[in-house]
Amino acid sequence: MKSYDLLLKNGNLIDPKNNLNGSFDVAISKSKISKIAKSIDQNKSNTVIDASNMIICPGLIDLHAHCYGYFGAIFPDEMCLPFGTTTMLDAGGSGWKTFDDMKEKVISKSTARVLSLLNIVGSGMIIDKEQVVSDMDPVATANKINERKDLIAGVKVAHFEANSWQAVDKGRKAAELSGTFMMVDQNPIKGRSMEDLLLNHMVSGDILTHMYAWGKPIIGPKSTVENFFLKARENGIIFDLGHGAGSFSFSMAKPAIEQGFHPDTISTDHHRDSLLSNHSNMPNCMTKMMHLGITLEEVIKKSTLNPSEVLGLPELGHLGEGSEADIAVLKIIEGDFGLIDNGLTGNRKLNTSNIIENQLTIKGGKVVWDRNGLSFGNYEDTPKPDYDSIY
Ligand SMILES: [Zn+2]
Repeated sequence: MKSYDLLLKNGNLIDPKNNLNGSFDVAISKSKISKIAKSIDQNKSNTVIDASNMIICPGLIDLHAHCYGYFGAIFPDEMCLPFGTTTMLDAGGSGWKTFDDMKEKVISKSTARVLSLLNIVGSGMIIDKEQVVSDMDPVATANKINERKDLIAGVKVAHFEANSWQAVDKGRKAAELSGTFMMVDQNPIKGRSMEDLLLNHMVSGDILTHMYAWGKPIIGPKSTVENFFLKARENGIIFDLGHGAGSFSFSMAKPAIEQGFHPDTISTDHHRDSLLSNHSNMPNCMTKMMHLGITLEEVIKKSTLNPSEVLGLPELGHLGEGSEADIAVLKIIEGDFGLIDNGLTGNRKLNTSNIIENQLTIKGGKVVWDRNGLSFGNYEDTPKPDYDSIY
């Protein structure tokens, strides 16, 4: 019997938690990482994958995506596995009234690991219900979170349009009652400022998503990062990319990153519109961050280790021996590419000569996506049909 089920050879391993960035082989037994070494004997593994010229990193963790409730939600596997994402957080598609339905119809049927933020709206992320304050019950929300702490990470507040932070305050209360965090997607309007939201209605550990949205300008009138964003970061607020279809503008991201205000976590806000108009999968978002000046190693850290820490899942986000064998094998592809942003003034592009593309996804030790058949033998080895049993 061989020691390993799967062996990745000759790849460039980037594992920020374990301070690894170089050529390493990665061996997997069952669902766990069993050995990392400069060279591992290929005769000891049932399957060997040559990862030359590729980057091996922990399975990507998308901290903001939509697979339930929201009108553009997409089934998790199709939007995660082809892009190296092995864990996703559904950002408020369900509320306390609908979480059980999501669990039955989506979470329990997905290969990708799906965790959830409960919407403060009991009915979930349904556009007209998001304005109904009487459907925002912090106690019922906290009770449902406490019932399923294994699957629910926190609270989501989004799209509330009245001129107050009432929905945010109810979300904060639910987070406090359940000992979790709150993720917020709210645009400022006159009389309801982003400064007030960040400094007076959110606390350390809460997340502001869509940090480079044109409608939530991080860059102020003097073309510098607003002071209250800097102060909020000092206070422990976490800043999440949350790309989406209307929430990522190069005009905000480029100067903010140049001035040192990088995302804590890279996420897609993946749903139908973001897929169709912006291709906002994880490698696409990582590519954008890389071309705006963040190093590849940092980009990977913000897409793996950082979100695992937000979720409190130390077995994910790295490839230490004994950890979960969730892996993305990425490649830098050269060519002519246009990266597309969005915002309330339409889409625009940034031309680049290379992109990050996912080649292979491993979830719990199993290959679940293989773009170029790296894990398969050649077709010439196909056995002949058993003609004797047919004729
Ligand atoms: Zn979203």
